[in-house]
Amino acid sequence: MRLLVALCVAWPLVAAADIRVAFPAERQKLPFVEQTYLIGAIDRNGAETVYVNGLTTGVYRTGAFLQMVPTKPGTNTVVVAAGRDRLVRRFVVAEQAKPATVQPPVVVESDDSELLLKPSAWTTTGTLFANRVRVGIDAGETRYFLPKGFTLRGAEVKGTSWVCVWLENARGFMPKSVLAPNHEASVPPKGLLAPDPAPTFPDHPPYGHPPSDVSICLDPGHGGSDPGSLSPHGWKEKDVNLMQARAIRDALQKAGFQVIMTRDGDSFPSLYERPQLAVDQHVDAFISIHHNATAVNRDPRLARHTTTYASTSNGLALAACIQKHVGQVLAPVQNAGAQMKSYAVCRNPAVPSCLIEVDFINLPEGEEESWDPDRLKKVADAVVLGILDWMTDPAKKAEPGPEDLPEPESESDNL
Ligand SMILES: [Zn+2]
Repeated sequence: MRLLVALCVAWPLVAAADIRVAFPAERQKLPFVEQTYLIGAIDRNGAETVYVNGLTTGVYRTGAFLQMVPTKPGTNTVVVAAGRDRLVRRFVVAEQAKPATVQPPVVVESDDSELLLKPSAWTTTGTLFANRVRVGIDAGETRYFLPKGFTLRGAEVKGTSWVCVWLENARGFMPKSVLAPNHEASVPPKGLLAPDPAPTFPDHPPYGHPPSDVSICLDPGHGGSDPGSLSPHGWKEKDVNLMQARAIRDALQKAGFQVIMTRDGDSFPSLYERPQLAVDQHVDAFISIHHNATAVNRDPRLARHTTTYASTSNGLALAACIQKHVGQVLAPVQNAGAQMKSYAVCRNPAVPSCLIEVDFINLPEGEEESWDPDRLKKVADAVVLGILDWMTDPAKKAEPGPEDLPEPESESDNL
């Protein structure tokens, strides 16, 4: 009888490992890689250990596990075993790409290049973010953002869908999709001055104003059919981005700020609708909220860090203030500081903008902490402190009063 009771208690515990693998998904196609991370989770009732293709893999206290597995081109099979359960996962790795036969880029060497049709007047039709004058065809950095309805000199580039345009006596290039021929206007000169894309936007709200004078646009990354990255339990980045953004919104409102959100549900505003909202609402700052994951072939345990990106100099000033405080509350997660990187949502010529990558969610520890309500609140409070820092006159921050100066401990400290 005692044996029977023991069996009845033990049996369901051993049986219920319930293995789930979040990445790679069944039949998922991966690029050519020599290894991939495999992440998943089990119910911890029975098993302390997971075996991935026979390799012993530790299980984190939440039931999440992570194992790097070698891969080969074609179909790969991974067997995951825990307790009495077994899961077979198949995914496909691409063949190593042959060096592509790269078409040489079209280069317009001079104003009277044979590639150019006759110059005429063209008027911009896109949004501020789509009307970008680039340094080259198909590529290159943005030289100017142009408002909708601006007329400039342009000449179609033969064999391409690009128009060569002239501003301030220099050539630039715009896709034909954001321009319409303007037959009524005379052809503008090459020296036409580029307009200020955002004449009424400051780099920074005036120092010393209260939070109630300052409005912030929060942008929870991804949404709708775009889940973003996945965590070991298969939780989606779009959801934790929204949770974090709502926590930041609540903390900002409590501090007196005005806040708008690019989404407050499971929708997907386009990458240009998001900054456009910040311009239309004339906010003082735009902050996009994301969570990171490593590239397929990189071990998340070696990559975990927190950072805030900006794509403009006024955005970088905002990013640096925010990341200083966010980095402090996330310690000992490595703080990679504020960095410049080109992101569509951050290239806003009007509103100081940045993008926070709070943590890595394809790592068991990062998953657990990112979904923790206390951590969400801590990060939210840190963002508020960062914004308050950004609103403080740097001259006042740079000159601490004598009582704030630490006593020198030794002569070498004064060097
Ligand atoms: Zn993201």
